[in-house]
Amino acid sequence: MSSNAVRWPESLWAAVTPPGPDCPELTGALQADVVVIGGGFTGLSTALHLREANVDVAIVEAAEPGWGASGRNNGQVIPTLSRPDPEAIVARHGAAGERFVAMLRDSAADLFEIVQRYNIAAEHEQTGWVQPVHSPGRIEIAERRVRQWSKVGAPVELLSRDQTSEMLGSEAWYGGFWNRSGGHINPLALARGLARTVLSLGARIYARSPAISFERRGDRWVVTTERGEISGRALVVATNAYSGEIVKSLVPEIATEVMPVLSWQMATQPLSDNVRKTIVPGRQAMSDTHGELYFARYDARNRLVTGGAVIGPGNKAERLKATLTERLQRLWPQIGEVSFDYVWNGYVGMTADFLPRIHRLGPDAYGWTGCNGRAVALTIPLGRELAKAVRGAPDKDLALPFTRPVSIPAHGLMRKRALLMLLVYRWRDAREIA
Ligand SMILES: Cc1cc2nc3c(=O)[nH]c(=O)nc-3n(C[C@H](O)[C@H](O)[C@H](O)COP(=O)(O)OP(=O)(O)OC[C@H]3O[C@@H](n4cnc5c(N)ncnc54)[C@H](O)[C@@H]3O)c2cc1C
Repeated sequence: MSSNAVRWPESLWAAVTPPGPDCPELTGALQADVVVIGGGFTGLSTALHLREANVDVAIVEAAEPGWGASGRNNGQVIPTLSRPDPEAIVARHGAAGERFVAMLRDSAADLFEIVQRYNIAAEHEQTGWVQPVHSPGRIEIAERRVRQWSKVGAPVELLSRDQTSEMLGSEAWYGGFWNRSGGHINPLALARGLARTVLSLGARIYARSPAISFERRGDRWVVTTERGEISGRALVVATNAYSGEIVKSLVPEIATEVMPVLSWQMATQPLSDNVRKTIVPGRQAMSDTHGELYFARYDARNRLVTGGAVIGPGNKAERLKATLTERLQRLWPQIGEVSFDYVWNGYVGMTADFLPRIHRLGPDAYGWTGCNGRAVALTIPLGRELAKAVRGAPDKDLALPFTRPVSIPAHGLMRKRALLMLLVYRWRDAREIA
């Protein structure tokens, strides 16, 4: 990437969101108490919580705040992981897993609270998040989730088939898992709003400054960019699924432990008010139980924002448009003609067990990845916990289930094949329906 020009994806969010703050490039040799690499939700939330504790913090961002997954996603604020539920998380991580589950439970509420406290204009709607069940067999997923999440005090309910069709305005689903604390947001506006907030609290953000490397020199971490360097007592690597996408050699142990999978997003034309009232009238965010996920939410202009993944060569955007038009018309025949005004994509970091990976990378150095498409909400309290960690909180007080990085064998080769999993999901999805 050229260090001066930042190309934004042609996304709905980039089209409707006021520009972010002007941030300088990193030049010369600078210092901070904590250096954060990556200006997405994780890096920004870490900086926010550090500034609230009066800690000097500087973010080094390759492009601009929100340029990565944070400004490209569907904006669904979902206080769960994509698949593992509380018992699986605790079975894997013990007491740290219990703290992580509690963090996840409160993550959507935390996000909306920060948006309100700092008056961030990000078109947020805390209308709840629903996971409808696409085949009779998969009602077990909703039942299990309701059982496990109610046990830890989450505001969840099981929806019957009738309740689900009333909530979604469609007969396509068989029941659902309902969490009242979720919702949706304009994610790029959130990222830019967080950036403005951390700057106003005294943090520094260096943009258009890809970190080329970081290393330990004496008792400090030194992050080097093309035109400068910055050292810190502590370091947070918040590059997530983009860890190996801009500078391959930055942090290979993190870049090779996830599969970055391209997820496509599309926004329809604004729906007429009459039609909108019949499709998800309560404006909840929705992602269902298909392995090849069906998901949608409204933006503030009544566009349905949806998407999917696509395999094989050829014009991916056009092929996906055809698939999604057919899908939307099947789910909601009343929608009529569908056109897509915006199409864009971004990388989701997938792990085989759908659990995130959180690491101590050295003395006072931390990093994570593996959002599996579910971390708009999670990254906000995760940043708080990372801020606590760099301030020296003991592990027992952190909701961070640390593991050692483990690379996926033959990562490069597997990456080329990762999308083939979509065929497996399609087969499984179809088989259960039948
Ligand atoms: C298309 C898509 C749809 C999604 N939908 C949802 C959803 O609806 N709900 C949900 O919960 N989750 C969703 N997600 C996941 C969610 O967007 C991410 O989990 C979240 O944004 C991760 O934030 P982050 O700050 O950790 O990473 P990012 O936002 O990716 O930030 C990483 C930053 O690091 C920077 N960077 C990379 N390399 C360097 C370097 N060498 N030097 C300096 N900076 C560097 C990048 O430019 C980037 O800005 C989706 C993700 C995608 C891609």
